[in-house]
Amino acid sequence: MSFGWFRGGPRMSVDNDRCELYGICQAEAPTLFDLGADGRLRYTRQLEADDLEPAIAAARLCPMRAIVLQGWPK
Ligand code: SF4
Repeated sequence: MSFGWFRGGPRMSVDNDRCELYGICQAEAPTLFDLGADGRLRYTRQLEADDLEPAIAAARLCPMRAIVLQGWPK
């Protein structure tokens, strides 16, 4: 699957106002999310094709609906 025709490619962000740092996203997609010992959630913003499934799964499982995916195939 190619994402080249999406302007800027698929992107992911986390709404810090909603995120409660439960870490479920990291458990589901450890290659995309890293909840550090300092209490900060780091994550991959520019996504590749292989990131599609784990990113969607993490977004679905986030209890706060804090993960936002953009530039995604419909
Ligand atoms: S699962 Fe959602 S609320 Fe929990 S750390 Fe990840 S983005 Fe934040």
